[in-house]
Amino acid sequence: MTELADLEARARAAGRPAGEEGLVVCENLVRVYRTDEVEVQALQGLDLVVTEGECVALVGASGSGKSTLLSILSGLDLPTAGRARVAGHDLLAMGRRERLGYRRSTVGFVWQQTGRNLLPYLTALENVALPMTYARVPRRARRERAAELLDVLGVAYCRDRRPGELSGGEQQRVAVAVATANAPRVLLADEPTGELDTAGGEEVFAALRRANEQLGATVVVVTHDPLVSGQVRRTVRIRDGRTATETLREQDGTGEEFTVLDRAGRLQLPGEYVERYGLRGRVRLTAERDHVGVWPDAPADDADPPGTSG
Ligand code: ADP
Ligand code: MG
Repeated sequence: MTELADLEARARAAGRPAGEEGLVVCENLVRVYRTDEVEVQALQGLDLVVTEGECVALVGASGSGKSTLLSILSGLDLPTAGRARVAGHDLLAMGRRERLGYRRSTVGFVWQQTGRNLLPYLTALENVALPMTYARVPRRARRERAAELLDVLGVAYCRDRRPGELSGGEQQRVAVAVATANAPRVLLADEPTGELDTAGGEEVFAALRRANEQLGATVVVVTHDPLVSGQVRRTVRIRDGRTATETLREQDGTGEEFTVLDRAGRLQLPGEYVERYGLRGRVRLTAERDHVGVWPDAPADDADPPGTSG
């Protein structure tokens, strides 16, 4: 067994069981920012479950709470209320020591700003080896694993270069290696392709997928890029600090749309459906044996432009 595979196997064995409910579980998560007189509700009762092994894209308009959620999951920020558990850690109740260990080895993080992920005076290999120092991995093993990670992520040829000598896409792929150095259960990335061109973005996504498939990390990636959601199986859309809709894509390219029902029974329909079926204001519900139907209140008349029938 290679050093890399061995580390991964140990990391997974040590972490089990994470509970049957999911590796990442957020329930009714609230984060309120208070600045002087103003109060911003960045998260307003968000629900999210991510199962171990998944690769999930998180999308949503600017200001919808995506970065707030990722900061909480990374252990950097504390929610105001609700429940958040990751790999058996209660993020609302962690003490200082547990939080430190959590941030070092349970989660890995990739930021949007390429300059924020790597130390400029270290080579790619040294950058990847650095987090393992904190985990007390012996020097030789650190260098071996760092080299293996760079290889798996397609940037072995960058090992002796400093960040200034790398393209944005190469820097972000090295950043994925840094984030996975201590074999985290969860890899979080906040718009990691935001500063890159299309080709660079695709390479970084390929690296995230390898981190998921070959290194065994559960991946949650925030993205603005509509192309990206096509590359993952599950896309979760956050709207106004809550999860609104989910899309599950099957291997054959077909997709299934889901929406999240909150505690009060509210749900949000995908905008595309609202438009396609001409749903406006009051809609008609029908209770069927095994499902609920949603109908426009008045049957749409194709001959009439919208808004002229009432
Ligand atoms: P996204 O990443 O989806 O663009 P954010 O999570 O960054 O959204 O922000 C969600 C909301 O919270 C926004 O209205 C933003 O202005 C506000 N917000 C984020 N961080 C802070 C902060 N540190 N102080 C005050 N308001 C904040
Ligand atoms: Mg953001």
